[in-house]
Amino acid sequence: MANRRVLITGAAGFLGSHLCDRFIAEGYDVVGMDNLITGDLKNIEHLFKLKEFEFYNHDVSKFIHVPGKIDYILHFASPASPIDYLKIPIQTLKVGSLGIHNCLGLARVKNARVLIASTSEVYGDPMVHPQTEEYWGNVNPVGPRGVYDEAKRFQEAMTMAYHTFHGLETRIVRIFNTYGPRMRLNDGRVLPAFIGQALRGEDLTMFGDGSQTRSFCYVSDLVDGIYKLLLSDYAYPVNIGNPNEITIREFGEEIIKLTGTNQKLISKPLPKDDPKQRKPDITKAKEILNWEPKVSRAEGLKITYEYFKNLPTEELMKTAHRFD
Ligand code: UDP
Repeated sequence: MANRRVLITGAAGFLGSHLCDRFIAEGYDVVGMDNLITGDLKNIEHLFKLKEFEFYNHDVSKFIHVPGKIDYILHFASPASPIDYLKIPIQTLKVGSLGIHNCLGLARVKNARVLIASTSEVYGDPMVHPQTEEYWGNVNPVGPRGVYDEAKRFQEAMTMAYHTFHGLETRIVRIFNTYGPRMRLNDGRVLPAFIGQALRGEDLTMFGDGSQTRSFCYVSDLVDGIYKLLLSDYAYPVNIGNPNEITIREFGEEIIKLTGTNQKLISKPLPKDDPKQRKPDITKAKEILNWEPKVSRAEGLKITYEYFKNLPTEELMKTAHRFD
């Protein structure tokens, strides 16, 4: 029997590339698609020699044509860090709207199941803590994060409409902060920012007083949750993330300890609409998928630090300051 075949959009990105690896390991044929605006072919170059892998350099906001059967579509194409979606706001809106419309249309033709990457950003600056899937969120549509948050919210609505109106099989994962190898050093996110600064011998730029919280999930745990959700029969959104919550100040202190840097945390202005707290309620994922994260922050950070430490120096010198 032929292998099952999965289309992964955003395949050259951080999460997309790890998903490609997982599906190849599970015996699937993988079709990767990416327009390489924020993705990087280096993340998937090890796959090009495999006959189970093929790659299309294509913008999914434009009509998608893939010959042959497709069993599953995972829509992971999107800029995903505040610095990226401030730089390319229109593409961010298009990939979450036109992009998912094209994926859903393709899925109907191919009779494929679609899983979309949604995000904890649909909860905005949350008034409910920890965040359950039933919470509708507190999003500023015209703030700096609006282009991403509303694109993801629209994407969920569109996906649900195809499910209810066309009977399409759909899955929605709400991804909380995730980290691991292949994050872009210059994407402005807190982990690559702090580790990059430590490696370059710069102070670590903590935004605000560092009392805001996040809950960081290691990438292999996230990929496992997504894999289980895809194969489940649950069409409503499911939070996947690690509920181990930490303040950004404490996180900075952990990175200082891990890297052994002599630098210190310095305070920079808190960006507008920066969520004050974030932590997933993962009761649904536990009950429906029998999933929970396994990798501790200490373990995950160690692996991630090794990855960044071994990057070529010119990569390391690429730096990004969010608001200057
Ligand atoms: N942050 C920080 N210093 C940085 C980059 C980010 O203190 O150099 C803070 C940021 O204000 C936010 C948290 O770290 O409160 C996580 O930021 P990130 O961009 O990684 O993700 P998100 O805000 O989307 O969760």
